[in-house]
Amino acid sequence: MSQDKSLSRQFNFCAGPAALPLRVLEQAQRDLLSLPGTGASVLEISHRSPVFKAILHDAETRLRRLMAVPDGYTVLFLQGGSRLQFSMVPMNLLRDQAADAQYVLTGSWGLKACEQARLEGPVQVVWDGAATGYDRLPDDSSWDGSGRIAYRHITSNETIQGVQFRSEPEVKDLVLVCDASSDFLSRPIDVQRYGLIYACAQKNAGPAGVTIVIIRDQLLERSADSLPGYLSYREHAQEGSLYNTPCTFGIYMVGLVAQWLEEEVGGLVEMNRRNQAKASELYDALDSSEGFYQGHAQPDCRSLMNVTFRLPSSELDDLFVERAEAEGLCALRGHRSVGGIRASIYNAVPRAGVTALAEFMREFRDKKA
Ligand SMILES: *Cc1c(COP(=O)(O)O)cnc(C)c1O
Repeated sequence: MSQDKSLSRQFNFCAGPAALPLRVLEQAQRDLLSLPGTGASVLEISHRSPVFKAILHDAETRLRRLMAVPDGYTVLFLQGGSRLQFSMVPMNLLRDQAADAQYVLTGSWGLKACEQARLEGPVQVVWDGAATGYDRLPDDSSWDGSGRIAYRHITSNETIQGVQFRSEPEVKDLVLVCDASSDFLSRPIDVQRYGLIYACAQKNAGPAGVTIVIIRDQLLERSADSLPGYLSYREHAQEGSLYNTPCTFGIYMVGLVAQWLEEEVGGLVEMNRRNQAKASELYDALDSSEGFYQGHAQPDCRSLMNVTFRLPSSELDDLFVERAEAEGLCALRGHRSVGGIRASIYNAVPRAGVTALAEFMREFRDKKA
């Protein structure tokens, strides 16, 4: 039965909400009418019940283990997506600090985060890749800026343009804040180098509706008492992510994805190895196309998650998307703001899907070039 169902599933390159591991979907389906031993669905139980508290604890424990989150950090499960984090970060970390926030703009999401921070306080843009269409990263990240700095914000992977930091930029003792929405759980990171990491779940970690925040405990003290309750990290931390009814189903799904990463994949080192292998298949197809496919990102900052490129004309882009869809390769159209093609190859997109896409790219080029 499950074999038949998996056969009717297409290879899904959607940027988000994105593909989920088949095993996770099957388990959610099995549990949907009744969680084992509970007699009710996870959708139907109190968020304060022992059963849900165990689910929440399990999701957090697995994330901590996978990412080697050190003591002294709190993991929160919030709502409102990364867009709400664009506001919560400056509300909690910048408001009343008599300091500036610094933003590194490597793509559309960083730009949007920066716009929201400006509503809260003074912002320095320390680097902006707009002049070259956000196709690269800064060469050198040792900006000093002037005066007191509340934090420096980066976007580890710019989902729309397809540029990704290979490692954490050097920030000395500044508080580094990272929007990791689209490469969360895709590779090991050194959590200690960050003051705060946030990621909406719907790219790599689960369904839309839950957003994960990992925050250094000391920073919780910055949340002003005057903040509305929901908008205060300190409030959420004190309540153990149960300040209000959280996205219970989303948290359950994040737990299943983390379980899949631990038990089936074998951890983030192995996940990263697979992601590198997948991405290099597609970039090889670009690089061996004799210019038919033009990659957007400069080679040294190409994203392992979102592979962005163009064909010689927008008519060919359209034809590419249409023919690919007919071959069961879906959601390849680039973001509406930039056009072209975007293949999002997050953790749950299998190697076989990437190989099929690389083959399709070669065939399409041979017919059209
Ligand atoms: C998807 C995405 C967002 C927006 O997330 P929402 O959950 O829609 O608010 C922000 N930043 C990055 C890097 C993203 O990929």
